[in-house]
Amino acid sequence: MTPDSPKKVLLVALGGNALIKKGQKGTLSEQFANLREPMQQIARLSRQYRLIITHGNGPQVGDLLLRQEALPELSHHPLEILVAQTQGWLGYMIESTLDGELTRLGVDLKSSLVSLLSYVVVDENDSAFKNPTKPIGPVLTPEQVKRADYPVTQTAKGPRRVVASPKPITIVEKREIKTLIRNGFIVICCGGGGIPVVREGRGFAGVDAVIDKDLASAKLAEDVGVDIFCIATDVPGLALDYGTPKERFLDEVSKKEAYDYLKTGQFPPGSMGPKVEACIKVLENGGQRTFICSTDEITKALDQKAGTHFSL
Ligand code: ADP
Ligand code: MG
Repeated sequence: MTPDSPKKVLLVALGGNALIKKGQKGTLSEQFANLREPMQQIARLSRQYRLIITHGNGPQVGDLLLRQEALPELSHHPLEILVAQTQGWLGYMIESTLDGELTRLGVDLKSSLVSLLSYVVVDENDSAFKNPTKPIGPVLTPEQVKRADYPVTQTAKGPRRVVASPKPITIVEKREIKTLIRNGFIVICCGGGGIPVVREGRGFAGVDAVIDKDLASAKLAEDVGVDIFCIATDVPGLALDYGTPKERFLDEVSKKEAYDYLKTGQFPPGSMGPKVEACIKVLENGGQRTFICSTDEITKALDQKAGTHFSL
């Protein structure tokens, strides 16, 4: 592929929750199997688009936290270290699954996949540090909720641990990512929203938080210049009255409608709220198309036959 080829840049933000389907325990073989469907689609799409894949890590970082809590005699790792670990864990799983699918399709991209450790700068005075909103880890049992010495919130799936989720300010590796996609590499980056850091002089220091991967992906789209922005998750799109008998999924939503629904609490912070905010931000910053769809329907949504599509 030649540098600066005219192919459009497609960013797919994969949900950490989508790697573990409802009712599954979340074993590694289940996570590998769940990656097959989106990676088959992405492998085919690589013929048509320059690709960036970002991914969440909510269930996986929660899993690491539970493991270290089960071994109190070992030294405790802060969240930024656990986020870095999940970038390696999921970067490996995504890269190897995609590599397999590319090979199966006969796409000559074998050497053109890169998983990049990514740092994302946040503001140490962000009010999120005082008000944790980001659910991580599994749904807790009533017994675990009673014993929890950390904040817990009620989510649509049940009670979960919450951690601080400050806003992303910039992606440290944006220039490198831009250069890689221009040169035909598929880049897997900003895993789990990126390793959260604050600036200390010319250097960085990690902070105890998990950045929302959808907001980090929107910031990356702005920093790098993305044409099409796709958030792939474990539901078919954006619903009104989600989880109630009146639930209905939207094919399209305008910025005004989305913000009105957001105000009335239709899209909770820590899950659908940031996805909506991310899709609107990308459009405002020059993105051509943004949508939320299920991980199994990325191609269908690109053809406008699935998902919820945003307009300004
Ligand atoms: P991901 O790991 O893909 O970021 P999240 O759990 O953060 O997934 O967000 C997707 C979840 O948002 C869905 O599984 C659903 O339970 C929840 N949700 C809450 N409100 C809505 C809504 N209005 N429409 C669709 N999904 C919603
Ligand atoms: Mg999420």
